[in-house]
Amino acid sequence: MDKKIEGFFTPPAPHWVGNGFPVRSLFSYARHGAAVSPFLLLDHAGPAMFPPGHERRGVGPHPHRGFETVTIVYDGEVSHRDSTGAGGTIGPGDVQWMTAAGGLLHDEYHSEAFTRSGGRLEMVQLWVNLPARHKMDAPHYQALTRADMPELALPGQAGTLRVIAGDYAGQAGAARTYTPINLWDLRLRPAGQVTLKLPEGHTLMLLLRQGDVQVQGQPVQAGQLLQLSRSGTQLTLRAQAQAQLLLLGGEPIDEPIAGHGPFVMNTRAELIQASQDFMAGRFGQMDAA
Ligand code: MN
Repeated sequence: MDKKIEGFFTPPAPHWVGNGFPVRSLFSYARHGAAVSPFLLLDHAGPAMFPPGHERRGVGPHPHRGFETVTIVYDGEVSHRDSTGAGGTIGPGDVQWMTAAGGLLHDEYHSEAFTRSGGRLEMVQLWVNLPARHKMDAPHYQALTRADMPELALPGQAGTLRVIAGDYAGQAGAARTYTPINLWDLRLRPAGQVTLKLPEGHTLMLLLRQGDVQVQGQPVQAGQLLQLSRSGTQLTLRAQAQAQLLLLGGEPIDEPIAGHGPFVMNTRAELIQASQDFMAGRFGQMDAA
């Protein structure tokens, strides 16, 4: 059975995250509630051009607790450091899957090299909720390079698909997830057509990053995010011109959400605890940059 298009999310006006990331928040649990579960938020940064510079661009130390942040870089280069002592730089095609869980502090900046050279920046950051029983686990990272996520050829030379997480046609994704999630990066050739099979009952959303595509026969414009029905298993994409899409699917987490800023928990008491722990320095320390 075909999935149905449930609706298009109209993004609010862009805003800046720190001085480095001009983002459009395509969805958030605050606006869309349980409909987007197990996901919490999706920010699309850029595409934007930055001139060569010297000033650090990004966002300084801040906490997270209760979920995961997944950063996918398409253009540009981002560096991060955190209070566990971990850090690194990711570039085009790389993914940082950060499980904040019980909590950490981190910062996110353009890399030094990208700051100096300037150029095109495009990335997305997805927040993935954690089930209650894992919200206070120890924080950890998965640094996934482009080489960890081979591009698979789609049938009929329709294009390529990268399995960041989940499973496509028996090919397992690179990321380990706490609940069933499919996160696929698709590139379609002009006139490329593909019918994807997805699990019944999962949330499914599609971001058209670039190009021109028909989804279940309906035209979609670049920058749009659409939501598909949880019922049904088939999704047909047909590219009018070359197209790049991000597919987000996952089993809903049927638990209450209490969130504020960088904390997403299940109850108000846990939120208050998170604030108190942060104020008391229990998220760790970061050295001055
Ligand atoms: Mn962050």
